[in-house]
Amino acid sequence: MNLSDINTLKNLLSRHGFSFKKSLGQNFLIDSSVCPAMAEAACNENTGVLEIGPGVGVLTYELSKIAKKVVAIELDERLKKVLPITLAECENVEIIYGDAMKLDLHKIIEEHFSDCDNVCVCANLPYYITSPIVMMLLESHLPIKSITVMVQLEAAQRLCAEVGSRDAGAVTVAVNYYAESEILFSVGRESFMPSPNVDSAVIQLKIRENPPIAVKNEKKFFSLVKACFAQRRKTLLNTVSNTLKIDKNELRNALNQIGLSDTVRGEALTMEQLAALSDLI
Ligand code: SAM
Repeated sequence: MNLSDINTLKNLLSRHGFSFKKSLGQNFLIDSSVCPAMAEAACNENTGVLEIGPGVGVLTYELSKIAKKVVAIELDERLKKVLPITLAECENVEIIYGDAMKLDLHKIIEEHFSDCDNVCVCANLPYYITSPIVMMLLESHLPIKSITVMVQLEAAQRLCAEVGSRDAGAVTVAVNYYAESEILFSVGRESFMPSPNVDSAVIQLKIRENPPIAVKNEKKFFSLVKACFAQRRKTLLNTVSNTLKIDKNELRNALNQIGLSDTVRGEALTMEQLAALSDLI
């Protein structure tokens, strides 16, 4: 069954009375070149792949051809009628119905992938929770090698921006702390059914063994990062002193000690400068 064929997909879904739920970010891929390219970039024959949101299984099918095993987590139980049909040939796939944000992913990886050499995440993410999912995957220190996901183009640019550039946000710093990021290719809105109002891109985050900077206190570092980007138009001195309740003189001294002017904006700081500032305040 060619799941990327719009008529096949329409017939299949209408036979099962399936209607798309916008609230679950349901836009299904109908471009036959995208999923093989994602699967190729994400895994090899020794990989256990965790997929989030298989939909009708178009990416799952391609992953199952390359990977050792695929475990896909799907929130929408209406797909219980569809996935056994579309993935009938795929013996190395298991579907878990539930919320990827709430399930114990450490346990799932341990239970399903102990015989795999490496584990990765690959998904066409629901866009309404892109950043929370990416941050949950990074912050929970899962034993994974990489995250290869399709996200909205603007999210891809932010997640993969250079820290210190105008495209960067607090999430960019967090991604950079845990992973090396890269935009692999872009995907137009016409590649989906229904077609969304935005374009997309596939990004890859390769998980670092160690963060690129050393900080004395990780929690303090991330609070500072959040505060730096909280009000982008304001100077770092104003926004950080207000948000973190730090005395302005203390903060001014810390900025000067690392060679920064007290009119600098939070978004202009590099990873090293953010780390140095967090250690000083
Ligand atoms: N992978 C399919 C494709 O490429 O055509 C579908 C991708 S669609 C953008 C996102 C999928 O994620 C939908 O099937 C949706 O039901 C599912 N989903 C939404 N929120 C979820 C969550 N919290 N946990 C697991 N799956 C979720």
